Amino acid sequence: MPKICTGFVDPDGGVRPCIFAEDGQGGPAQSKGGSCLFCDAGKLELALGSRIGKGNLVRRLKAWHRKGTPVYEAAFTFGTLCALSDSKRQVLRWGAGEPARFERKTSWLHRKKLRLKRFLWGRPIPVASNESLQYLRNEVASSSTYWQNLLCSFSVCRKMESTSSARKAKKRNCGYWKKTSGTAAARNWRRKWWRVRRLIKEQLLAWAAKGPPWNCSAEFQWAMEEEILEPGLHVSLQSTSIENHPICFVAEDGELLYFERNGPYGNKLTTAMRSINNALGKEVVKTYETETSNHMQERGYALHPHMVTGCIYSPLYVTNMLQAFGFKLQLWRDSQTWPAGAKSLLQIRGKDAWYTQYWAALTRRDDKVYLLDCQKDAPVHIPKWQQSVVMYITYAVVPLQ
Ligand SMILES: [Zn+2]
Repeated sequence: MPKICTGFVDPDGGVRPCIFAEDGQGGPAQSKGGSCLFCDAGKLELALGSRIGKGNLVRRLKAWHRKGTPVYEAAFTFGTLCALSDSKRQVLRWGAGEPARFERKTSWLHRKKLRLKRFLWGRPIPVASNESLQYLRNEVASSSTYWQNLLCSFSVCRKMESTSSARKAKKRNCGYWKKTSGTAAARNWRRKWWRVRRLIKEQLLAWAAKGPPWNCSAEFQWAMEEEILEPGLHVSLQSTSIENHPICFVAEDGELLYFERNGPYGNKLTTAMRSINNALGKEVVKTYETETSNHMQERGYALHPHMVTGCIYSPLYVTNMLQAFGFKLQLWRDSQTWPAGAKSLLQIRGKDAWYTQYWAALTRRDDKVYLLDCQKDAPVHIPKWQQSVVMYITYAVVPLQ
């Protein structure tokens, strides 16, 4: 008669029954005496100390993992394995056949050699594109602002680095010291260049965080060209009071878009509020109930409660909201042309049922149209915006005349 495990003895007192039977059904494990190694930290230590014991442990885990039994995870969370360090547990998980969570390509170990090389030679400076050089030439012509000074050092460091590397190549056969002095100079310029690049990035992020209106689209376009900023970047706006944390979204081509999300507690009417803000590119609507209600009652509308909470497809309400800021809605059915004089469109999206419908904004920058859907995480560029005009009820946001 084989003995069974007496269970996990908690150091704080109490005993938990063993669930680590070999078949993974959740029964107690067999044990030669006392507890099994998943219940007794001393036995686990013994097992990990011997090759055979470790092999048995890994084989047991592997069998559980292959079976897909919850006992496998329980061993790591309720069993003695939870006392091991993260890396030791990870090694056991790999041994049991779990796939590695990172790719070799991106792992630090793989990059070690590259890091060492960069440490010695400095991280190389990427080559500038013609557009970028053009911008730099224009800006550097007069260095009066902080930004222009930054750009000036940015180009100077790059130029000096390339000349000192060239000198290095030229003097390759002129002896050890000369060769290394050229390298040291190049490395210095590289380090300086990367530092300036960080400062430039800081400056751009500070501008983005300031909030609309943004008058720096050329700067951001250039930064995209130089890959100083990655597309799809979100920058939270500072000094805003509202709870929805509006962001500055940096689109692929360096366009800056104001974007508010409809929070988890926002109802369908708040999507109208957010979308008006998104359509006008700044926070204009802060509260929606009192002002608009008063405004509508002044104009002789009897305001029913369902217009505020339920009936999202009430363009009357939205156009009244907009009037306070000098705009109005205009129904737009022409799917081929963008309405003249309109910066943005507002759409009623969602399925046919009224309770799934909500407001979303479309805005145009140059030739690109972005969907600012406050139910989603970020704005998206929609190349075929014309289709959405066919699909959804669309209004142009036009100035009041
Ligand atoms: Zn046990």
